[in-house]
Amino acid sequence: MIAELISVGTEILLGNIVNTNAAYLSEKLAVLGYSVYFQTTVGDNEERLAMAISAALSRSDVVILSGGLGPTEDDLTKETAAKVLGIECYEDKQVKEAITTYFNKRKAKEVTENNWKQAMVPEGARILFNENGTAPGLILDTKEEKHLILLPGPPGELKPMFENQVMKYLGEINPGTIYSQMVKIHGVGESAVETIVKDLIDGQNNPTVAPYAKTGEVHLRVTARADTKKEAKKLVQPVCAEIKSRFGNAVYTTDEKETLEESIVKLLKKHDLTLATAESCTGGLLAGRLVNVPGVSDVFQQGFVTYSNKAKRKLLDVSKSTLKKYGAVSKQTAKEMAAGAAILTGADVAVSITGLAGPDGATKEKPVGMVCMSCYIKEKNFTKEYNFTGNRQKIRENSVVYALSLLRHSILENYETKK
Ligand code: ATP
Repeated sequence: MIAELISVGTEILLGNIVNTNAAYLSEKLAVLGYSVYFQTTVGDNEERLAMAISAALSRSDVVILSGGLGPTEDDLTKETAAKVLGIECYEDKQVKEAITTYFNKRKAKEVTENNWKQAMVPEGARILFNENGTAPGLILDTKEEKHLILLPGPPGELKPMFENQVMKYLGEINPGTIYSQMVKIHGVGESAVETIVKDLIDGQNNPTVAPYAKTGEVHLRVTARADTKKEAKKLVQPVCAEIKSRFGNAVYTTDEKETLEESIVKLLKKHDLTLATAESCTGGLLAGRLVNVPGVSDVFQQGFVTYSNKAKRKLLDVSKSTLKKYGAVSKQTAKEMAAGAAILTGADVAVSITGLAGPDGATKEKPVGMVCMSCYIKEKNFTKEYNFTGNRQKIRENSVVYALSLLRHSILENYETKK
């Protein structure tokens, strides 16, 4: 089924708030097996909102509107939707009671008259009670078997309403079961991933393969629809296996909730390995990512932040001649940083990062974005050099993910690959 989103609110158009509702709803709809072809944002203007609703109803099965359900004059969503469908509104007793209860619970001194506007409901609408606010959500089914779903704008109201009430309804109107699995890939660029699985993305609609790019990672969601969960799973599994065979060790998990750092901590624990980090341009971000993981203290020994050459020499024993000959941003320095961190702390594995995050400091040989990293493991170094693009923050975030990636590959290579 095709779904479409309309976000209502002038403040979204003005850029005063970020449209997180659209991102949230699109992601949920994909998991539920809906195809989202259009997202529209429209201001608090009756005529343009009516146009957006009519256009959406002409091309989609389900239209989800968010925002503009509140008590004020410029909250027009419900009234406009009813007008487009040619339905009258009536005052609903139950909704009125729910609003009264909501205010009583919060010991509101006075309920202003305009709040009762929220008790007006289009004839035949299903009501979605709002446990976190006063504006109820609504579902309107049209004669043409289209479905209009109206949700309040505040994410704290929209999300619980969607998860507790709308998801069930969306399952009912689009029968069958959806099963999906995420395949998480690290250290391979977004366009490279898409090229490698282009045939799987383009070639089929059950299961579908949808990519989600994150910094340094690409997640592929494989979703199938079938009569039973077992059948849907049967459709998903061979596609996941195919993806895994194409990406090998670059796939770090198929567990929806597992993060890259968690998968690494698990691997370190499995092989009883301790870890140290040595960072320059990332200034502790790598250690910070690892410390996100509960229980990391079993494996993480120490993180060095060595920004200056002096610190690299003093704390990590990087040689003066290496720094002089190759510079702080070089594979040689990265190697010595990692080796120094491991040897000086007694950790089994160490990973280092040194790079130019910019915006200043570039030379002809060393552009902004040049980052060197090394992993010291079993007395050997695995070293990489990258040229990342983007601003300072992006370069630093990418460096961390690629260093985690190098670390993971190095452990697998040394402890899991049969020689
Ligand atoms: P209410 O009047 O009960 O607050 P409403 O349904 O009328 O809700 P709006 O007035 O459109 O919703 O928005 C209320 C607030 O909700 C906004 O100020 C904003 O903080 C948040 N909000 C609205 N739309 C979005 C969106 N698309 N993404 C994220 N936040 C949103």
